[in-house]
This record gives sequence, structure tokens and C-alpha cells, in this order.
Amino acid sequence: MSSSLERVDLDGNQIKPITICMIGAGGFIGSHLCEKIMNETPHNVLALDVYNDKIKHLLEPDNLPWHGRIHFHRLNIKNDSRLEGLIKMSDLTINLAAICTPADYNTRPLDTIFSNFIDALPVVKYCSENNKRLIHFSTCEVYGKTIGSFLPKDSPLREDPAYYLLKEEDSPCIFGSIEKQRWSYACAKQLIERLIYAEGAENGMDFTIVRPFNWIGPRMDFIPGVDGPSEGVPRVLACFSNNLLRGEPLKLVDGGESQRTFVYIKDAIEAVLLMIENPARANGHIFNVGNPNNEVTVRQLAEMMIQVYSKVSGEQTPETPTIDVSSKEFYGEGYDDSDKRIPDMTIINKQLGWNPKTSLWDLLESTLTYQHRTYAEAIKKVIAKPIAT
Ligand code: NAD
Ligand code: UDP
Repeated sequence: MSSSLERVDLDGNQIKPITICMIGAGGFIGSHLCEKIMNETPHNVLALDVYNDKIKHLLEPDNLPWHGRIHFHRLNIKNDSRLEGLIKMSDLTINLAAICTPADYNTRPLDTIFSNFIDALPVVKYCSENNKRLIHFSTCEVYGKTIGSFLPKDSPLREDPAYYLLKEEDSPCIFGSIEKQRWSYACAKQLIERLIYAEGAENGMDFTIVRPFNWIGPRMDFIPGVDGPSEGVPRVLACFSNNLLRGEPLKLVDGGESQRTFVYIKDAIEAVLLMIENPARANGHIFNVGNPNNEVTVRQLAEMMIQVYSKVSGEQTPETPTIDVSSKEFYGEGYDDSDKRIPDMTIINKQLGWNPKTSLWDLLESTLTYQHRTYAEAIKKVIAKPIAT
């Protein structure tokens, strides 16, 4: 750990140790953020979640160098009276808690809306009433579809960034109809953003909103049948990893034509640490956090993951590498998709000087090395198990 005396913010001021109440600390992003804070800063973390498997290595044994700076509180923010007290004890609250896997948005829309809007309300209220700073995790999905997606397929305007670049202060939020329940998540996230923004405008609450653009890396989601339900459908990195580990074709939803930009979790966490330690530059802002240089179609992502997995595992590429599936078959009724997600980086560059560094190939190489090391043996055992009659 660096001494607090050596650490200065972007304006040259000394960074003082703070206490952070991190809600959803046991998830993918939370686990990387806790790791970064323990390894590189003097800050204390009150880690709140219903699970702690992904941060166990930070909590035990008792002789870890950061012992005493991270405390896990197993609680569900839906119904736990300890929440306000923990927020009051902290200088900063970071809210990561959410249902955030697309397979849930159209199949469990009520849980999705409650998790992303209703359950976040007390967090905002306690921060506002107790004059505490809040960093809230929203999503790039609040932009919905691009304006360009409504143009004819062959329109040259589709190549013009004015029709696709997603800008925090200018772009509209374009969702599908109410029957397209995919948008339940985006809509709930948009409303909580508006509420937080209003708390800032009317009551002076200090806030920062983060819009992640497909952060990926080790510990993301779960591998069905190994550390998650067999029938569960995680986000694309874990779906494709699962297919590769099992030697199955990767499933391309509706032809895999949608486009995404992927950013390495370790790059993105650097941006979050800058927000934590530079409140004067981060407060009152909404930040896109993504890597505009790492754009691919989902089909291209699948092809690249197949190549990278073959390299890191030493296994041959499968004979049938991909198959097409309809979204109705894969996700069920009410699914819809974001067509393209390229973040505009002007605001985060200007306020925090942050830029992502890792190429898609490099981030897939380190992530798939982790997936292979962590899961290959477990998958072999699952496959070898005789099916119960
Ligand atoms: P995750 O599912 O791995 O982590 C969320 C954590 O919140 C989980 O550990 C879960 O147990 C916890 N949680 C959920 N409800 C809770 C409750 N009621 N009480 C206590 N804990 C609860 O997801 P993640 O990828 O780490 O995402 C974190 C945040 O970032 C979410 O708000 C998500 O919407 C947002 N986000 C992430 C991405 C990405 O690329 N990973 C993209 C867009 C938005
Ligand atoms: N997808 C796919 N096959 C899968 C899983 C996902 O083709 O096995 C597609 C999905 O339809 C979407 C993209 O991959 O177009 C990214 O999906 P993800 O679950 O990561 O979430 P999103 O980026 O849509 O929030």
C-alpha cells in the first residue's frame, strides 16, 4: 500500500484516507474496485452485498496487508435497517447493486425495475439527507438505440458520428415500445439518474453517475452449471466462455450483427478511482466509461474469442464454431437490442484525463487465460458426470 502522504490528486492536493460504503461490492465490478482500493490506496471499505465469494480473497486470512481496512456486511438493501447507519459512517457511497443481465430484463421485468429504481431510492435519500457524496452506477444502455438505426440500411448518414456517437450531454434516450420489456432496465436506470440529478439540482447533493460501456474481464458473471444455475444466461463474455470451455458452438443472437465496444475492467477501474479521489472534478458529472477503439460486431467478438481461446488452451478450434439463434429462442418474448454503442470520451478526458489502454485482443487473452485456468477442470467433471435417470 502507498503511504497517504505520497498520494496527490490531479490538482496536486494530498489525498486523505476516506471510508467508502460500497453497495454491491461482491459483484464483478465491486470485486475489482475493492482489490484496487486495497492494493493502491489507504481508504477503508464497508463492503455490502448478499454474496462475498468474489471478494473472499480480500477478506481472509487475517494477516493480509490491508487487514482492518475492508469489512464485509452481508445485507440486502431491499430490507435492512443497517443501511442508513453504514452510509452515515462513510464519506462516500458507491452504489453498484443491480440486476444487470439482459436475460432478466424481459423475463423478470418487475424484479429488474425494483432492483434498478425502487431499491436505489433509499440509498439516494440517505446520501442526500446526510450530505454524503454518491457515485451511482448507471449504464450505457440509457442511450438505447442510436438515431442512425432508424435510417435506411444503405444511408451514408449511418457513417456520420452525429448519428451514432453517444454523448452524455446531447444524445437522446431512445427505447423500444413497452411490450419490448428489454428496456425495463434502461428505463429504470434512466429514472434513477434523473432523480439523482434532481437531488443535485434542488438539494445540492454531491453526485457522480457512471455509464459503463461493456466492461469485461475475470470474475464477470458465472459459468452455468459450475458456479451458477445450469439454465442461467449470463452476459455475452460468460456465454461465449461457457461455449468454448464445453467445446460447443457459440450462439449468435439474430445473426450477431449488433455492435459493442468492450473495455478491460482494469482500465475502467482506473477511471473509477480517479472519480473517487477527484471529487471536485467528478461531482455533478455523468461519465461514459468505455473504449471507443474496441468496437466489434458480436459475430466478430465470437470469432476473436475462438482464436484467442485456441491459443491460450492449446485446443483446436471447433468444427462448427458458431450457430445462429433467434432472440425469441434465446431470450424469450420481449427482447430487443442496442444496435451500436460508441462512447464519446470528451467529458471524461477533460475532467479526469482518463483514456483506456488495452486492446480487445489483449483483454481477451488475459480474460480467457483466467477462464481456462479457473473453469476447464470443473467443466470436464460436469461433462463426465452421468446424467441422473
Ligand atoms: P454484478 O451483478 O456482478 O454485481 C452486482 C452486485 O450487486 C452483485 O454482487 C449482487 O449480489 C449485488 N446486489 C444486487 N442486489 C442487491 C441487493 N438488493 N442488496 C445487496 N446487494 C445486491 O454486476 P456488475 O457488472 O458488477 O455491475 C455493477 C453495476 O454496474 C450495476 O449497477 C450495473 O447495472 C452497472 N453496469 C455494469 C456494466 C458492465 O459492463 N459490467 C455495464 C452497464 C452497467
Ligand atoms: N449475445 C449473443 N450470444 C450470447 C449472448 C449474447 O449473440 O450467447 C449478444 C446479445 O444479443 C447482445 C450482445 O451479445 O447483442 C451483448 O450481450 P450482453 O449480454 O453482454 O449485454 P448487452 O451488451 O446487450 O447489455
